[in-house]
Amino acid sequence: MREGAGQAEQRQADWHAIHSEEVVSRLEAQPGSGLSSEQAEQRLEHYGPNRLRPPEREGPIKRFLKQFHNVLIYILIVAGVVTALLGHTLDSAVIFGVVLINAIIGHVQEGKAEKALDAIRGMLSPRAVVLRDGERMTVNAEHLVPGDIVLLEAGDRVPADVRILEARNLRLDEAALTGESVPVEKADEPVAVDAELGDRKSLAFSGTLVAYGRGQGVVVGTGEATEIGKVSSLIAGVESITTPLLRQVAEFGRWLSVAIVLLAAATFLIGYYLQAYTAIETFLAAVALAVAAIPEGLPAIMTITLAIGVQRMAGRNAIIRRLPAVETLGSVTTICSDKTGTLTRNEMTVRSVVTAEQAYEVSGVGYVPDGAFHRNGGETVSAGEEPVLAQMLRGVALCNEAALYHRDGNWRLEGDPTEGALMVAAVKGGFERRELDRSFPRVDVIPFESSYKFMVTLHREREDGGLLIMKGAPERVLAACTRERTADGDRPLDRDHWQEVLDGIASRGQRLLAVAVKETDPDHRELLFSDVEEGMVFLGVMGIIDPPREEAIEAVAECHRAGIGVKMITGDHALTAGAIGEQLGIRGKPLVGHEIEAMDDEELGRRCLETDVFARTTPIHKLRLVQALQGHGQVVAMTGDGVNDAPALKRADVGIAMGNKGTEAAKEASEMVLADDNFASIAYAVEEGRTVYDNLKKAILYLLPTNGGQAFTIVIAIMFGLTLPVTPVQALWINMVTAVTLALALAFEPPEPGLMERRPRDPAKPILSGFLIWRVLFVSVLLVMGTFGHYVYMEAQGVSDELARSVAINTLVMGQVFYLFNARYILEPVTSVAGLLGSRAVLIAIGVLIVLQGLFTYAPPVQALFGTAGLGPEEWLRVLVFGVLLFGVVELEKAVLRRRISPED
Ligand code: ADP
Ligand code: MG
Repeated sequence: MREGAGQAEQRQADWHAIHSEEVVSRLEAQPGSGLSSEQAEQRLEHYGPNRLRPPEREGPIKRFLKQFHNVLIYILIVAGVVTALLGHTLDSAVIFGVVLINAIIGHVQEGKAEKALDAIRGMLSPRAVVLRDGERMTVNAEHLVPGDIVLLEAGDRVPADVRILEARNLRLDEAALTGESVPVEKADEPVAVDAELGDRKSLAFSGTLVAYGRGQGVVVGTGEATEIGKVSSLIAGVESITTPLLRQVAEFGRWLSVAIVLLAAATFLIGYYLQAYTAIETFLAAVALAVAAIPEGLPAIMTITLAIGVQRMAGRNAIIRRLPAVETLGSVTTICSDKTGTLTRNEMTVRSVVTAEQAYEVSGVGYVPDGAFHRNGGETVSAGEEPVLAQMLRGVALCNEAALYHRDGNWRLEGDPTEGALMVAAVKGGFERRELDRSFPRVDVIPFESSYKFMVTLHREREDGGLLIMKGAPERVLAACTRERTADGDRPLDRDHWQEVLDGIASRGQRLLAVAVKETDPDHRELLFSDVEEGMVFLGVMGIIDPPREEAIEAVAECHRAGIGVKMITGDHALTAGAIGEQLGIRGKPLVGHEIEAMDDEELGRRCLETDVFARTTPIHKLRLVQALQGHGQVVAMTGDGVNDAPALKRADVGIAMGNKGTEAAKEASEMVLADDNFASIAYAVEEGRTVYDNLKKAILYLLPTNGGQAFTIVIAIMFGLTLPVTPVQALWINMVTAVTLALALAFEPPEPGLMERRPRDPAKPILSGFLIWRVLFVSVLLVMGTFGHYVYMEAQGVSDELARSVAINTLVMGQVFYLFNARYILEPVTSVAGLLGSRAVLIAIGVLIVLQGLFTYAPPVQALFGTAGLGPEEWLRVLVFGVLLFGVVELEKAVLRRRISPED
């Protein structure tokens, strides 16, 4: 698709100032049915996709040059220049070569990590609800074209510049465009031609959020031709690849570098004045020390580990919007989850219908409208012969925003599953929406909101009257009623009887929905909340099943094993919630919304630790719950979908929005988005969060001993006045080769066995713990013993310096190879088939390393470059024995520490 070929020509029209009829006719739009799909396709071809140009990125050259902005590189460049001045051209060339290779590798890896994250951001592409071919459908917002009729609802992001045709309490948060944070009311009347952007009340601008109400409008500008497209490129700014933890480690790395440079300077002085080295020798030794001791690979490995973790999560439907969430996920102690659709399947089916005089069972499952109504557990009845049942079914079909389609042999639902289930029941009873719409045209609507839990529509019943239909939570509907309907007319409402009926249905785990009606005047045109406060006639109640997801039951159990509490939050009836909770393994006496309201924060804090089930809640309760739990030191993950959930999502440590049924407002407020709305994906994300944290730790635990081992070896050699066991260029080689092969393999580590049996990590504990320092020093010392020992032994044999060094280096590298196996699990033993052979990345890395190390040791040109010599079988044997020994000793250390410290440390 060509970008904006036609967008440039989308005329600078004064859409805000002309009448809506005029707008519609100019754009050849059809407010009732929308564009046809052919029209939409042609226009898309002409105008180009509805998207903004991606944000400006740093150019590749600038990003490449940035690779050199690093303390280590400065040291190396100085070292390279000085070595060149001292006449060691070969060494100097190697140093500069390595600097260059290092920059290239860093550049490529960073680019890869950024690409991976970009792809993940792309998964969050916005959608829009439009009318096309007379049907309401959800499309990718990029496919919108001028003339499209779009529907706007609270929580939506306006997908293009839209001229309002119809608005109901529509208020938009235009902060993204104008900076004004108070929502602006929108309406269909034209405004003055010269009105400021903020005063163009007849236009909804692309990128702004619907804060309240609903509306319908026609697209007048897309892509670059929108107001936001004129002022800026994509606002979803690029987040840099970093998190608090990575910054902490980077900071640590900088301090370490400074310390090492000082140490190198001290070594130079000691070597020069106390031992009889020449200036050149000591200088080279100091450079070797600095080069060897600085963990140059660490930051890159950490970034890659994080990027891989985020990518893996995305593969399992957990899309990270803010990177620090990856770390927080690993320390979550309580997950508060919506019930409907997250813990349950959200494939709803009406199972039972109860009227004042009759009870019916409904057969059939899912959205296929095959099934019938049975009375008293058997006898099939036709809805035509049951007047109250017929009125109920007609009512729920009319008071409904969902649409049922038969497409490619499948029944598909567009809209809310609860309403879909009602629509299916109506069709089973023989009621068709299209016909009903003709006989009972809709005049007005109060949309469903989970804060008041009902929906009302007003219809004209031919010429003779108006009809009000209310459906919603039974308590709300009952409160509005004084009478109930029977086949022979209305009679006073028997509240006690209904309470029994409701409890009976709810305790079977069915979701309840009641229906009531009221006849009004034909000239009643606008609905007010006061219209449904009293005088409604109760028709009956429906029981809807929504079975738990199998995988959610499994995931809840897993969370419990991992020391994570799971709380279920629902707008459903307490008994329904309790019954479903029981099936999911989420228990406790349900705490209901109005009880929460009556409590102060302190009591809520106490009570919310006693139960895991919260029923009849509204989004406000979610916020209080998060605060109460956080007050008890819990790290809280909270799910949400509606615009009203945004405050709770923002407040939670990890806000989780639903990818499918979630509004843009909810997504914006959250750290993570679930592509499949599934609770099991949260449990997976937590596991992955813990894995990433573990792997970051493993990267540190693995890389630092390489540096420690070399540095100590060099320092000791200088103290004893020996020739250097490792030259600067060799140290460079060791660091590069181990970082880009071996350490990188750890970034791909899968979760350790038993990871989800651990308690959540205490977020206050720093990653650089005492244990970590101990392990680094311990392994460093082991490496020094092998490397230095073997070097001294070879020197004592009177072999050449080249050979002695090659032996030392291969001993060190082999030690690292074996230690790589140890490092796969921090405390768990790796002495198993899975532990030793379980990671393909580790095996490949070792394979590559062996080839490189072989070249380093035996290939004549490389030997010349690095000053190495070939080892004999006897040396190799000793090298191997050392590797095995080191492996064994580290496993022993783990066995001892396993009993003393917990893996969370
Ligand atoms: P949840 O998402 O936890 O199931 P909701 O707030 O969606 O909670 O629903 C709470 C109650 O509101 C339901 O038990 C049902 O009685 C009623 N309800 C749900 N959806 C609708 C709707 N579209 N129209 C009318 N009433 C509804
Ligand atoms: Mg709901």
